[in-house]
Amino acid sequence: MALRRGFKSEAERIARRVRAELGMSAGHSVTPEVLAKLLGIEVRAGDELIHPQRFAELEQIQPGAFSACTFRPSADRIVVVYNPRSPKSRRRSDLAHELAHVLLDHELSRVEKLGAATFLSCDAIQEEEAAWLSGCLLLPRPLLLAEVRSGLSAKDIATRCGVSEGMARYRLNVTGVLRQNQALQKKSPFPG
Ligand SMILES: [Zn+2]
Repeated sequence: MALRRGFKSEAERIARRVRAELGMSAGHSVTPEVLAKLLGIEVRAGDELIHPQRFAELEQIQPGAFSACTFRPSADRIVVVYNPRSPKSRRRSDLAHELAHVLLDHELSRVEKLGAATFLSCDAIQEEEAAWLSGCLLLPRPLLLAEVRSGLSAKDIATRCGVSEGMARYRLNVTGVLRQNQALQKKSPFPG
């Protein structure tokens, strides 16, 4: 499924606005917990709310199925709950993803079932939009470009920014940063 026309620029605008409000420059990764605070959103580990054993059971039913979800217990309260079993890098992107849904004003409309649990999620297009915006927040293009130019690999970037290597690789590709850097290196006899 393709993102609607203009969405990518809109996502960049939102990410820029967020960074400005946090007093950050364009080349910095937004920390989801800090962004949540700015937005007045509560972030809770799932095992603060239900028994940790339930997450172990869920993992057995469908490995990796539960990442995080957003609840709106009342009109003025938003709570993001994450899977306490996820590694930190995964948690970071899961939280950024949930916050992206909020920033984009997405509605929770689709009912999903996971084992005995029922919860609401967004439709496929909104999922894609949240994935894109969370990428802009965590790994902005200027940051990727600077890191790649200083010779860092996707793995190095992942470690430095606290995200998974898969996510770093994905962003390097979709932002065109890898291509841009390769083209530059071809042109110049002095790489870097
Ligand atoms: Zn989502």
